Amino acid sequence: MTKRRTIIKGLTSILPLALSTSRTSAAPPLPIPLQRDYFRELGLKPFINAAGAYSAYGGARMRPEVVTAMRYATKNKVKIRELHDAVATRIASLVGSEAAMVTSGATAAIVLGTAACMTRGDESKMRQLPNTDGIPCQVIIQKKHRYTYDRALTVPGAQLVEVETEQDVRNAVNEKTAMMFFLKPTQNGDNIPSTRYRDLARELGIPTFCDAATTTPPAGNVIDGVKEGFDLLCYSGGKGLRGPYSAGLLLGRKDLIRFARRQGAPNDLSIGRGMKVSAEEYIGMLVALETGLQISDTEEISWKQARFNNIISAIGDLTGVTLKTFVSTGHAKELYLDIDWDPKVVKLTHQGFVDALRANDPSVEIRLFLFSGGRVQLSATVMDEGEDVIVGKIIKKILMAHS
Ligand SMILES: *Cc1c(COP(=O)(O)O)cnc(C)c1O
Repeated sequence: MTKRRTIIKGLTSILPLALSTSRTSAAPPLPIPLQRDYFRELGLKPFINAAGAYSAYGGARMRPEVVTAMRYATKNKVKIRELHDAVATRIASLVGSEAAMVTSGATAAIVLGTAACMTRGDESKMRQLPNTDGIPCQVIIQKKHRYTYDRALTVPGAQLVEVETEQDVRNAVNEKTAMMFFLKPTQNGDNIPSTRYRDLARELGIPTFCDAATTTPPAGNVIDGVKEGFDLLCYSGGKGLRGPYSAGLLLGRKDLIRFARRQGAPNDLSIGRGMKVSAEEYIGMLVALETGLQISDTEEISWKQARFNNIISAIGDLTGVTLKTFVSTGHAKELYLDIDWDPKVVKLTHQGFVDALRANDPSVEIRLFLFSGGRVQLSATVMDEGEDVIVGKIIKKILMAHS
């Protein structure tokens, strides 16, 4: 006891000096606990995402290069407008578009792009939105292209005018027409295909907007999308491009992009002031695109195939069960694993299988039936290394329990 006291006494004679010097310099960093499990601390149940980059599931797994870039941006400060200028110039040159901007997701790109077509460069009209008195506010859309996100078109006050035929388009165009909208790909097909729709709009002098949000991977599809010649084009950053969850791209005509930027943050009086993009997201979106464009289609497919191979070998040979990988047809090239079983051997419905995966600890989510046509399918895009074997073992356990 006495010994310890003397030691402490000895220390205190040194300490005040040390403390006083540390106070005048920068504050020492707070200690960061090495392994905090934030989600568990909050009582949340984490899950393994074998479903894909759905918004409700947190979007894509960001590329490691994106995470590094975003961490860099937390420490190094530049002015937001200058950063956006520089990132936009780089993105435009990477994809071959006249101009580009980073938005807070594809939805915000639709809102800002539509607002740009409605008000052009007129500052007082911009401030008037979503009141459209005296502002061209009609957006032409094919009936088959009506979808959940067309709500975004109406946010700045636009009204949708549905068409089916070319003659419908010609009849619909008047002095209130602001834009012609196109969705790619659609669940229902098109009455007027993209190139014809674009040519018709050019002939009638109406700017076009194409939602191509989910036409990646591969990232190279963005370059092909730009070549199609729509005046504006948007992509989701947090899906196939594997960028930040809440980032997106608006690409296209220089004048329209300039107007769209004035409709957005950090401009306080704009309709898009709430659709902020952080420095981390600007740089993260750029690096996601840059990295994605450097990766070949075959590389992109082969790491997913490797994940599925681990799942397939963890499941092993089960009687009546068929496992098959396939690349989706359509605009995005995505690899999926299709699992099928003979219901006479494995007495489990597809919904029962989904429920069992969800109830498992760890919980697993697979591709939504809405997109798989009711089939049991897995995506590897959001799965981390090592999770594949875990998923394979869980699937084996569930299928065997019902055999
Ligand atoms: C997901 C999606 C959007 C919205 O993208 P966000 O980046 O989440 O705003 C828009 N259009 C289509 C076709 C989509 O699939």
